[in-house]
Amino acid sequence: MEDLGGLLFIGFIVVLWFVLIFVVGKQWEKKGYSKVAGQAVAFFFSPILGAIIGAILSPKKEVIEERELKAGKLKKCPYCGEMIRNEAVKCRYCQSEIK
Ligand SMILES: [Zn+2]
Repeated sequence: MEDLGGLLFIGFIVVLWFVLIFVVGKQWEKKGYSKVAGQAVAFFFSPILGAIIGAILSPKKEVIEERELKAGKLKKCPYCGEMIRNEAVKCRYCQSEIK
């Protein structure tokens, strides 16, 4: 059954390829970039290239902060405008007490 083995191997590669595309998309999304863009690079070129680009890209601070703000993990300090943890009672940037 040589054919079946080959078919299974191709199937395995295809599944692996799509899993990696998914992982690359997640990686890009985590850094504040478009998940779809990362998946497109991974799909059309290669997941390895997508992962390398994803690793090189510097995280988009504003996008990540915005996301954490919405998720309730961060809040904006009313005194200096820096992002601080939601549980914080004292701003780590300007040392102001936060109510
Ligand atoms: Zn502050």
